[in-house]
Amino acid sequence: MNFKLNEEQKMLKEMVRHFAENEISPVAKELEQKREFPSTLIKKLAELGLMGMSVPEKYGGSETDSLSVSLVIEEISRVSPSLAVIFSVHSSLFCYSISKFGTEEQKRKYLPKAAEAKILGAFSLSESEAGSDATALKTSFVKKGDKYILNGIKTWVTSGKNANAFILFAKHKTASEKRKLSAFIVDKDSPGLKITKVEDKMGLHSSMTSEITLEDCEIPSSNILGNEGQGTKIAFHCLDYSRIGIASQSVGLASRCLEEAIKYSTQRQAFGKNISSFQTIQFKIADMSTQLDASRLLAYRAAYLADQGQPFSKESAMAKLFASEAANKIAYEALQIHGGYGYSKEFLIEQLYRDARALTIYEGTSEIQRIVISRYLLR
Ligand SMILES: Cc1cc2nc3c(=O)[nH]c(=O)nc-3n(C[C@H](O)[C@H](O)[C@H](O)COP(=O)(O)OP(=O)(O)OC[C@H]3O[C@@H](n4cnc5c(N)ncnc54)[C@H](O)[C@@H]3O)c2cc1C
Repeated sequence: MNFKLNEEQKMLKEMVRHFAENEISPVAKELEQKREFPSTLIKKLAELGLMGMSVPEKYGGSETDSLSVSLVIEEISRVSPSLAVIFSVHSSLFCYSISKFGTEEQKRKYLPKAAEAKILGAFSLSESEAGSDATALKTSFVKKGDKYILNGIKTWVTSGKNANAFILFAKHKTASEKRKLSAFIVDKDSPGLKITKVEDKMGLHSSMTSEITLEDCEIPSSNILGNEGQGTKIAFHCLDYSRIGIASQSVGLASRCLEEAIKYSTQRQAFGKNISSFQTIQFKIADMSTQLDASRLLAYRAAYLADQGQPFSKESAMAKLFASEAANKIAYEALQIHGGYGYSKEFLIEQLYRDARALTIYEGTSEIQRIVISRYLLR
């Protein structure tokens, strides 16, 4: 395995770092505090060609390698974990699903607009009684002529309120095989679709996590993704892929925590010295940095395997598990190094500590990642 980024990847990372520092960073805190969706920043990401990274060139994207997508998510997350999850869902779940499983007609309809951010995509699998056990979902569909009719309530949809289209999972109303899902592309303006709630979350306030209610919601029958009954395969494959992005989101957030901790520890004085001169603080920083590097290497390995066309499901689960748990430990220690000030909204670490908490939960909890990993080892 080559541990070096190639020239294009280095340039991409530098370009996104520059954009993050100059365009995202100055507004991220205010957006977060005002709970505003970063629509302008998403348009700017599209102008840089980043919203179409998982879209083939034929449909107006750049179809970039997974490692490059990871680098972008990491750099965005370093300054705005909310924008990173919005970007990750759009790129690695919405665009990726259609690129991989869509018909020619679906690709032509959705992907060019998604690459330009004229369509923002979301992914709607979870329901109130079906999170880890996703195949227990109750949203139903029936076919009526050239339409599908959907009924149910979907929960926890990242960007739900602001997205224009959803990859949405449902079950046939009379399915004999109870755990078989089907996947649909559902436009926001479909008759019978309403956004019924925006979650009042602990963190990630710029990402409007929403509930969607479908009441006899009509979509064209051509909007099924794959075939009826293929939804479970589509959902699990796409989540396997997208988890690499959540590992990278964790790496970006954790790297910022470490930077903030180092900066603070070299400025804050106690007992007549910088607190960075105390061995306890030095060891915390050494451990944080080691966990961060291990997280990054696991994320890069999973992306590398995906880029080589090799199996990567176990490795993406390992990367997501380790990096999201490490990000929480790193955020905890970074806040501890800030002492009382870390508990104040004046310092960024307070927000990062809250944002980190979602990382071990979405796209499969840490417990579910352990199930995925152990299944590969024990089968
Ligand atoms: C900020 C945020 C954004 C989200 N965005 C999206 C989105 O865009 N689209 C979407 O579809 N969903 C989204 N989700 C939902 C997320 O994927 C689920 O919350 C997650 O899968 C866990 O499901 P649950 O909340 O129902 O918890 P549950 O499944 O009820 O789990 C509760 C606890 O039980 C544990 N548990 C469950 N089953 C087992 C088992 N077999 N063995 C051991 N432990 C187990 C879990 O690990 C967890 O600790 C989002 C969630 C959050 C918090």
